Amino acid sequence: MNNKLLLNKEFFKISLEKMAALTEENRDYWTELDSDIGDGDHGINLSIGFRGVTEKLQENYDNSNDINDLLKKSGMILLSKVGGASGPLYGSFFMKIGKDVVGKNEVTFVEFVDMLKNGIEAIQMRGKAELGDKTMLDTLLPGLDYLELHKEDEDSIKVLEDAVAIMKQGSDSTIPLVAKKGRAMRLGERAIGHRDPGSASSWMLINVFLEEMKKQVEKV
Ligand SMILES: [Mg+2]
Repeated sequence: MNNKLLLNKEFFKISLEKMAALTEENRDYWTELDSDIGDGDHGINLSIGFRGVTEKLQENYDNSNDINDLLKKSGMILLSKVGGASGPLYGSFFMKIGKDVVGKNEVTFVEFVDMLKNGIEAIQMRGKAELGDKTMLDTLLPGLDYLELHKEDEDSIKVLEDAVAIMKQGSDSTIPLVAKKGRAMRLGERAIGHRDPGSASSWMLINVFLEEMKKQVEKV
């Protein structure tokens, strides 16, 4: 039945609001992770960015019925407001996630997976990182592989649930790694034993989509 799931623009709008709330809750945690191996601004930067998005949402800046419009504008706010590496990466994600659903106001789960693929590819293009470089891609790529294999499965919620679990493991997998990207690279072996902050924020943000999707199914 979940394959009948349709995700409308309101779903994405609420997800963005929940992502902003999640960012406030985890601001100190993400910043602490970044203090260990970076410059200690990951949580603060994302908080500034998502506050910008929330403000615009409240102003009802996007009253079109176009999912891409909403996500692209949010991405542009993140890109312009967020410093550090995470701004351009998350900004690109949201700017590109809707590029194949221009003009649509609802998408299927399969289309949703294709959207994530576009967003994650944009992150990869921008950051030029590979699997195992100790970045958010260690979270996102294994999850995406799973989603692509299972996107047509009967139970969409279960598919996303499993993918999020894989993403969480992907974040754990960054702990023993030496960094090959970002500031943590300079630390060499001293980065070992620390979780990459972007790997943490990325699975937690994708998890917001899962939580909101579960609520959609309850409503049906
Ligand atoms: Mg930083």
